[in-house]
Amino acid sequence: MNTQLPTPYFVIDEPVLQRYYDMLTDSLKENWGNYLVGYSFKTNSLPWLVGFVKRNGAYAEVVSEDEYSLAKYLGFTDSEIVYNGPYKSEQSFRSVLLAGGYVNLDSRQELEWLTDLVNSNPGTELKVGIRANFNLEQMCPGETTMGEVSGRFGFCYETGKFAEAVELLRRLPGVRITGLHLHSSSKSRSVNIFRSIARMACLLQQEFDFNLEYVDLGGGYCGGMESRPEYPDYFPAVAEELSKCFSPENTKIIVEPGISLISKCTTFVTSIFDTRDIKGTRYVMTDGSRFNIDPTMIKTSHLFHVDYNEHYTGERPVKGRQVISGFTCMEVDRLFTYENQPELVPGDHIIYENVGGYTMSLNPLFIQYFPAVYVRSGDKMKMVRKKWTPEEYVQGQIM
Ligand SMILES: *Cc1c(COP(=O)(O)O)cnc(C)c1O
Repeated sequence: MNTQLPTPYFVIDEPVLQRYYDMLTDSLKENWGNYLVGYSFKTNSLPWLVGFVKRNGAYAEVVSEDEYSLAKYLGFTDSEIVYNGPYKSEQSFRSVLLAGGYVNLDSRQELEWLTDLVNSNPGTELKVGIRANFNLEQMCPGETTMGEVSGRFGFCYETGKFAEAVELLRRLPGVRITGLHLHSSSKSRSVNIFRSIARMACLLQQEFDFNLEYVDLGGGYCGGMESRPEYPDYFPAVAEELSKCFSPENTKIIVEPGISLISKCTTFVTSIFDTRDIKGTRYVMTDGSRFNIDPTMIKTSHLFHVDYNEHYTGERPVKGRQVISGFTCMEVDRLFTYENQPELVPGDHIIYENVGGYTMSLNPLFIQYFPAVYVRSGDKMKMVRKKWTPEEYVQGQIM
């Protein structure tokens, strides 16, 4: 299937995306019943994707004023925002709180903003969540991103900062702690991580005797990766732990999926435009760059398949090593080495799989502008972002 569309471009397969969204909500429904999905904007805030999750009932999980503004621009109300992270603005913090959205406090600064808000709005009930920083590594050795050193988000349980914040909040008139936020990033994304997060919620509940409307498990699930957990694996374990201290009648689960929702459905289609031999190495030049699908330069392998140019009638001898490279002028822009495979030629397509998360949102405007994005539904392809041109690049600027 060689398509005629100009490469490179991303494709989102809508039925696959829908399948993953439904898999998530079905599992939540079945195991807890009371839940809310806050879609992680930072993972991929492509407007079409945001629209898709919104139509399916998700709220916007945002971690900056710009993301908050984007959520508003794309039609979310303040009450449909889950506001996280260390870098909120005071204005948006107040708007979301006053509208009854979900604000998970992350810092001392926010406690001050909240105190000011209470003073300027006497008699108003304000519900807040609080992000706990805790030693997940101890519960899941070797699995977390922060490892033995601490994570840097939220109020630390072990040092007593969490208890201090709770005490301060309890003294603020009209303020109620209605949520716990326990997002932690892990390398393993295992069921055990989420079981431990649920256990931590219970531990905090027992120690502080909260009256919680929600436990926010955060994001960081696996999805669409072979022999790794899928949504239905997580929530039975989470529910088993949470039910020791909470009930679905009083307390909802908030989940903040990002990559797990959009990995499987997203591919990146590139073409080979040149090959060259230099000192015994075959370089295969493609119009996709490592910056498009591995912008943080951490991947050591890619899932991909090759679509051979059907108009090429020459031989394809097996080549020992072919170094698949991007179009940029940086030497590090090499994607992978193709070993002992048929010779690749101009017009072949290399199609990368599982590239939905942390790609489009981290893509630089380096040498080439943002590529087009299509949504596929059956055999229909709809363009949802046109390729950027100088027109988009220069917007809002003067020369
Ligand atoms: C990054 C992040 C997410 C989403 O993480 P994924 O790994 O994309 O699922 C959710 N919540 C918070 C607070 C985050 O920082």
